[in-house]
Amino acid sequence: SRPQTLGQLFALDSLLEPEEIAIRDTVRKFGEERLRPRIAEWFEDAQLPARELAKELGELGALGMHLDGYGCPGMSATAYGLACLELEAVDSGIRSLVSVQGSLAMFSIHHWGSEEQKQEWLPRMAAGEAIGCFGLTEPDFGSNPAGMRTNAKRDGDDWVLNGTKMWITNGSIADVAVVWAQTDLDDSPRGIRGFVVPTDTPGFSAPEITKKLSLRASVTSELVFDDVRLPASAMLPEAAGLRGPLTSLGEARFGIIFGAMGAARDCLEVAVDYAQSRHVFDKPLAGYQLTQAKLADMALEVGKGHMLAYHLGRLKDRGEITPERVSLGKLNNVREAIAIARECRTILGANGITLEYPVIRHANNLESVLTYEGTSEVHQLTIGKALTGEGAFR
Ligand code: FAD
Repeated sequence: SRPQTLGQLFALDSLLEPEEIAIRDTVRKFGEERLRPRIAEWFEDAQLPARELAKELGELGALGMHLDGYGCPGMSATAYGLACLELEAVDSGIRSLVSVQGSLAMFSIHHWGSEEQKQEWLPRMAAGEAIGCFGLTEPDFGSNPAGMRTNAKRDGDDWVLNGTKMWITNGSIADVAVVWAQTDLDDSPRGIRGFVVPTDTPGFSAPEITKKLSLRASVTSELVFDDVRLPASAMLPEAAGLRGPLTSLGEARFGIIFGAMGAARDCLEVAVDYAQSRHVFDKPLAGYQLTQAKLADMALEVGKGHMLAYHLGRLKDRGEITPERVSLGKLNNVREAIAIARECRTILGANGITLEYPVIRHANNLESVLTYEGTSEVHQLTIGKALTGEGAFR
């Protein structure tokens, strides 16, 4: 009988509106035509033509996709999620570029910024003419950002920023950094505030982190602030305390819930194809029960992961998403995606370890995705707290 795609098997499109399907198909076409042919080379060389890509992604409407006004497309959260899914089906690094630009940097300015900050940055960022990054993590503070040491001190009307951020996506190529720092403002716990820092400000530098074996098609950097002097207007006026960065992280995590399923789907499609054409012991690998058990179990997880993402998309569009719900999706979908990538790798045998196929690239990328935007353990603790009422973070 004729093989069915995963989407057909689960009737996934029946859960989407025609407009969402159209957006999804447009992004998928862009991914297949513009990104897929070059992605293995970008990954191998650890060189992403990010400026060129940002402009194309801007034209596509993928930057700040679910934000309104200031040149942003104003799409639904579900449509944004579907775009993340299709981009991550090509590579998690491309989705990272889009997440950091739209959900972390642009969202922070859109949600917490002044009218001037919005006017200055958002239209150019939506068009991909300006690239943004988001600096929260530090060398000694990842899962526990409250301990951050980067600080901003008042000097007259100015702020003077000192400290170091680590593992910052887009850092070395950014035109603007949204940076979180301790201040002595006392109207929130420990006075954390966000600052909009043009990267040409004296004292700012962003050395790139090299030797990565994951997310090679993505720029990751350290940010160093050495007496970076900023005007009073650089502070995000509406963000006070850790709620500022955590709200922005919730946006990016939402996109990852969809994105991880893109990587998983791509691995599974490749594995199904491979199993049909590869002959072992005189017949196609796909004709063996052990292979079919693997494929069936993976299909179940990919289908369930899509449905969870779509459900959370609907909740977000209705304003009913919560951090705990985002944790459910991020934990499940990334953990399943990495397990699927590794299982698909076994089906490809030795071919599975090369860049001729996307599978090990996805598996390696997903190691970063498992760690950033809240590690799996942090999401388990969030869900555990929701279930028991007991905080076990410390
Ligand atoms: P740690 O916090 O040191 O954690 C180490 C281990 O301890 C993990 O397994 C963790 O789950 C576990 N752990 C921590 N706390 C607990 C606990 N209470 N109980 C049990 N286990 C615990 N950050 C940004 O700010 N901006 C970016 O753009 C950005 N991009 C990134 C890109 C890449 C490729 C990577 C790899 C990271 C990026 N990050 C970014 C940083 C990322 O968010 C952090 O790496 C992440 O939060 C984990 O912090 P850590 O690496 O310091 O690990």
